[in-house]
Amino acid sequence: MMKTFDQQRDIMIREHLQGRGISDQSVLKAMREVPREEFVSALYVESSYGDHPLPIAEGQTISQPYIVAYMTEALELSPTARVLEIGTGSGYATAVLSRIVKTVYSVERLSGLAQSARQRLDTFGYANIVIHEGDGTLGWPEHAPYDAIVVTAGAPDVPHPLLEQLAIGGRLIVPVGKSCEVQELVRVRRVSEHDYRTEYLCGVRFVPLIGAAGWSGKGPH
Ligand code: SAM
Repeated sequence: MMKTFDQQRDIMIREHLQGRGISDQSVLKAMREVPREEFVSALYVESSYGDHPLPIAEGQTISQPYIVAYMTEALELSPTARVLEIGTGSGYATAVLSRIVKTVYSVERLSGLAQSARQRLDTFGYANIVIHEGDGTLGWPEHAPYDAIVVTAGAPDVPHPLLEQLAIGGRLIVPVGKSCEVQELVRVRRVSEHDYRTEYLCGVRFVPLIGAAGWSGKGPH
């Protein structure tokens, strides 16, 4: 018999997340609370809990659950944190973040995706999320500084405006790479006004971050 989405979600938590080392209880709880099947297009809903990304509208993707959990854990979040997310996409990772922190500010460059994510998140009553349509490579200066910033698209370099909008002690997670084949997931920690510490976490594969401090409209070659 076909497993229910609740059963599939439990398997995802146990095998794909805990089984690969995700141990932050707040992240596991959030991943258990958010119904991923509501963020996936109708065509792929039966694959909602597969261990892989899925296509969404406008040629974009909803990230692999493990990667969402890994990036969220790497942000080292607390309940009082104010987080900036670049690349709202379906709003799934936005929803996960919102279950852990005080406020999520999320920027999406494609207005169709921003609008549908906003509508979807409104129906869940997730009230601590603000979505903005625009070029997230420039951050969202009005609400800076942020305790954590996560970029969910691959950048050619760490976008400078995001470094400036990070609080001292804050963490920025961003995929960085010179081609669309693969990026390195980078964590930058702002240790003082002018000092940043960079760590390389793992290899990843994301759609391109397109904007003034990202790739041009054509993406990487
Ligand atoms: N986390 C999302 C989810 O759970 O569905 C997946 C995000 S998808 C991998 C990357 C998103 O980044 C796409 O929706 C894309 O349009 C967006 N994006 C690319 N460049 C951007 C930019 N400069 N500013 C804001 N969003 C951008």
